Amino acid sequence: MKVVTTRDELRAARAELSVRADTTGADTTGEVGVVMTMGALHAGHEALLRRARADVDAVVLTIFVNPLQFGPAEDFDRYPRTMEADLALARACGVDLVFAPTREVMYPGGDPVVRVDPGPGADVFEGASRPGFFHGVLTVVNKLFALTRPDAAYFGEKDYQQLSMIRAMVRDFDLPIDVRGVPTVREPDGLALSSRNRYLSPVEREQALVLHRALAACAATGSVDAGMAEYAKVPEVKVDYLAWGEGRWLTAAWVGGTRLIDNTEASNS
Ligand code: AMP
Repeated sequence: MKVVTTRDELRAARAELSVRADTTGADTTGEVGVVMTMGALHAGHEALLRRARADVDAVVLTIFVNPLQFGPAEDFDRYPRTMEADLALARACGVDLVFAPTREVMYPGGDPVVRVDPGPGADVFEGASRPGFFHGVLTVVNKLFALTRPDAAYFGEKDYQQLSMIRAMVRDFDLPIDVRGVPTVREPDGLALSSRNRYLSPVEREQALVLHRALAACAATGSVDAGMAEYAKVPEVKVDYLAWGEGRWLTAAWVGGTRLIDNTEASNS
């Protein structure tokens, strides 16, 4: 596994991947796949990497805590950074190439002047609560697409609105990339894995289960009221939104100082 941090190193390593992808056996696709992360890797990221490993000939992992997508009052400075453990997990998943740029490598000359306009899809849910979030996400994803030149890209359904905004960008910009969604990985008790779960105290970790319970209640009844009734049982948790959109039940809530999101498919069965 090669680990690179500069654009020159990435260019050289990416070119090598193409040569290898072109000369492999008939049972491989010759595709290069990318998994983009902010590090602090867990079993959710691992599922993306393993899916990519199974699908494509060469797997690229990017690790970059993107300052553009954090608001001024958000957790950019204290976001967990666990590079050594991340690289160990990447190695165990058979990643070929890791690109872990610094802020200066990603944004030479300062923050980008031109940014992706996410359109009206960013006016609701995460976009409404976090102004500028999707501008930042789509801008860095677009840059990382240009830098890593993947055939396929893997994103988690955990961030469902993000997945659909990335699909929209790929469609509207005619990017030659196959976007593949991967189902949310959960703890046995239902909590969706998140790098931010490590902020939770043991008591908050218990309280955080209400997101999953609220979504399950919505999915079972088809009504937002049933989900809000679940939230009402845990008054320490402050709901940001619980709503229907994108064909899913979507929620965000504050558990102490930690903002968590989750979503689930509809099912009335
Ligand atoms: P992040 O590092 O949190 O920006 O996430 C990087 C990628 O991993 C995104 O595509 C996320 O949707 C995905 N991801 C994060 N948590 C999970 C999870 N619990 N299950 C599946 N994918 C996830």
